Amino acid sequence: MAQSTEKLVIIGSGPAGYTAGIYAARAALNPLLFAGTIPFTPGGQLMITTEVENFPGFPKGVTGPELMELFKAQAERFGTRVVEESAIEVDLKSRPFRVKADSQEVLAESIIIATGASAMWSGAKGEEAYKNRGVSACATCDGFFFKNLDVLVVGGGDTAMEEATYLTKHARKVTIVHRRDALRASKIMQDKAKKNPKIAFVWNSVVEEVLGDGKKMNSARLKNVLNGEVQQVEAQGLFVAIGHKPNTELFAGKIDLDAKGYVKTTPGTTRTSVPGVFAAGDVQDPLYRQAVTAAGSGCQAAIEVERFLEH
Ligand code: NDP
Repeated sequence: MAQSTEKLVIIGSGPAGYTAGIYAARAALNPLLFAGTIPFTPGGQLMITTEVENFPGFPKGVTGPELMELFKAQAERFGTRVVEESAIEVDLKSRPFRVKADSQEVLAESIIIATGASAMWSGAKGEEAYKNRGVSACATCDGFFFKNLDVLVVGGGDTAMEEATYLTKHARKVTIVHRRDALRASKIMQDKAKKNPKIAFVWNSVVEEVLGDGKKMNSARLKNVLNGEVQQVEAQGLFVAIGHKPNTELFAGKIDLDAKGYVKTTPGTTRTSVPGVFAAGDVQDPLYRQAVTAAGSGCQAAIEVERFLEH
């Protein structure tokens, strides 16, 4: 049987992917959207967030999962076909492109890459072994389990401040471990963390090793990067908040990526180095990384696909 060719395949189901779906479906492109399966977090990073207070149109705030349900419902309302599978292989050498997913292979006249980004890990000894046994990258997902316990947060950016502040709702004490003596976080977030009596800072330090009894972590060895001094601190939790890496393994060697692995797009557009392949959201944005900017670029990508297919 001849394989049908999709006009548009969208890979990814965060704000960028679903917004591209809304616009492309309304433009009669009948998009097929691969939403991903765990560990790709269908719905994207907002699925592991609680309250979203800065998405316009929600003056009272909305939870991340609720917001993504609404995105999905709106994309489906206009006919986006959402498939709960991950794209596992792509061939972008010639059009139509080939996209292989968990249980099917499709041909596509155009593709929008919206695979987002994932949390990075510190690589400390013991970190991997104690993941989900104290070590986490998501305070809002796991913070609840640390009621009246001591936890560490690694990082000096907005995420670290946000996670630390959130964790004070549950934990007894939160210690932020940062590799320098100045925070990268915005002033408002820094002030909030510094004013919180439950938050302490360990400067110029990194986590060298996560220790525990084999079942759960109970302490960590922190190394001062200036004088090499090592101290062991008791902590039942370690939250790593040191940034994200784009989910572009699938596209390496197939389209141009920058030095950090983000998809390169022509400035002001979502065009990638391969005509007919567009990229939207965090996968091509190391700078803003907001739900609303991701949604905006998803809209842009759909409009660009429409124009590309017309010509
Ligand atoms: P950032 O890249 O801003 O910060 C990462 C932090 O981790 C830095 O302080 C960095 O140190 C540190 N770091 C990086 N690698 C390591 C390592 N291997 N070991 C130890 N420390 C390390 O990432 P964020 O996730 O914090 O923020 C990303 C973007 O999202 C930012 O633009 C931020 O403003 C935005 N954001 C906004 C929020 C909001 O407005 N509500 C909430 C969360 C994020 P160093 O400073 O030395 O480089």
